[in-house]
Amino acid sequence: MYGLMQHGALTLDKIIDHAARWHADREVVSRSVEGPIVRTTYGQMRERAKKVSNALLALGMKAGDRVGTLAWNTGRHMEAWYGIMGVGMVCHTLNPRLFPEQIAWIADHAGDRIIFTDLTFLPILKQILHHIPSVEHVVVFTDRDHMPADFALAGDAPGFKGLLAFEDLVEQHSPDVAWGGFPEDTAAGLCYTSGTTGDPKGVLYSHRSNFLHTFITLQPDVMGLSQKDVILPVVPMFHANAWGVAFSAPGTGAKMVMPGAKMDGASIHELLETEGVTFSAAVPTVWQMLLHHLESTNGKITTLKKVVIGGAACPESIIRAFHDNYGVEVVHAWGMTETSPVGTLSVMTDQLAKLPYEEQMPWRLKQGRPPLGVDICLKDDDDKRLPHDGKAFGHLKIRGPIIAAEYFKGAGGNILDAEGYFDTGDVATIDPEGFMQITDRAKDVVKSGGEWISTIEIENIAVGHPKAALAAVVGVPHPKWDERPVLLVKLKPEETATRVEFLDFLQGKIAKWWTPDDVLFVEDIPLGATGKIDKKLIRKRLTEEGYE
Ligand code: ADP
Repeated sequence: MYGLMQHGALTLDKIIDHAARWHADREVVSRSVEGPIVRTTYGQMRERAKKVSNALLALGMKAGDRVGTLAWNTGRHMEAWYGIMGVGMVCHTLNPRLFPEQIAWIADHAGDRIIFTDLTFLPILKQILHHIPSVEHVVVFTDRDHMPADFALAGDAPGFKGLLAFEDLVEQHSPDVAWGGFPEDTAAGLCYTSGTTGDPKGVLYSHRSNFLHTFITLQPDVMGLSQKDVILPVVPMFHANAWGVAFSAPGTGAKMVMPGAKMDGASIHELLETEGVTFSAAVPTVWQMLLHHLESTNGKITTLKKVVIGGAACPESIIRAFHDNYGVEVVHAWGMTETSPVGTLSVMTDQLAKLPYEEQMPWRLKQGRPPLGVDICLKDDDDKRLPHDGKAFGHLKIRGPIIAAEYFKGAGGNILDAEGYFDTGDVATIDPEGFMQITDRAKDVVKSGGEWISTIEIENIAVGHPKAALAAVVGVPHPKWDERPVLLVKLKPEETATRVEFLDFLQGKIAKWWTPDDVLFVEDIPLGATGKIDKKLIRKRLTEEGYE
């Protein structure tokens, strides 16, 4: 017997409709790429997004066509998202921090017909458009006055018809267009994984999966956003949909503050303070920059209450600095592009919350528990369940309606196990309190004498050394033990340190046999396209330099 309730397809246009209807004057503030701060509202955003839909239809775009965006977090970028998705086209976020040839490969694989971009990224597109024959137009998030006088391509681009100014499209088209009306399983967004192993693979979100993800993130023990919040997503819209904030913020009616192209410590601090930000989200390296800035300028934090930190393991030093020096609650989260991305969060249970803060730290450092809607488990190499005893570690698996079932165009074949779980490629433990802890990415783990060493755990301690700015641990080949860990440290400006200082600092905090065989002080620790430490590149550099 079926229930007798209305269906009401969960399509994303309803989110901005809701925001425009009930929070019409709530602001979306952006640091524009041209320079000044620009203010708009949810009411205006919806109207302009509708004009974008009409512009796309006038350019011959149809439902199901892919429209790329290669852009910073701004209000205009959000208008394009809702304009694309509202009429059933697929919004494909491209990560500008990838190498140009990777961007070209991904846009070509996706078959993007239009790319929305910022002035900043025109040089990249000039270089690669002749490799993406599907692209007909590039729309620049600017007005006519700021458009480049010439746009000479580096090669012949057969399908390319020209460059358009976003503001012209908005001005020329009517807001009169019907949104939605298609099934909720319709594709809404496409985001490629970074391809650290093999070619990048496309994760194709549906309206339903993103809508459900929005509800999931709004739970109090997840992001717990409210209409009273002022939200600054530093995490880019091209990094797993800014962790859903471009949906959850309008979904609640919270004010949004978009950082544009400037994500350095000083620029973020300025926005936090001038706009009264209460909630923010980003990867650890961004927060490290902000904290160094605050330390060196004696800066104050007056309105920020909570930050979600994920994408890479959050070091204890960050959690402590936010809590002890600025009174900000850190929520450590884990997720992946394939999981929409929120998978688990380290929110204290009632029991743990009663412990003194100091005693909560082991759990705060873990990646945490899954919210309603997400199911995780640990399995061994033979797909057998492992106990949740905090000791057994194995493959972290995940399933649910916000988890990828397959990749775009079938890349990678079947990605689910017999029980329908997706293998995250992460190695983890789950403790009796239900807190999951990532030991490593399967491909980064150091295997010494047949036993696994968690590089994440060593890094997190090493980066807490007062002289360290960044730390990374990678495995290097060893004749007897197969692999041994080596610690790379980037020191804070003006600092000097010795190998022994760092080894002494680790002593007693990790098992003796985990102690790195060497400490290398480096000028720079390379970061990948989503701001995480790029271990693949570090290993490659060490091999090239003949390090053994
Ligand atoms: P990529 O980094 O490959 O572009 P994702 O952003 O989807 O793609 O990365 C997902 C991966 O990032 C996870 O599988 C995990 O290895 C790592 N990760 C995410 N959050 C955390 C965290 N809080 N702690 C440790 N690792 C994390």
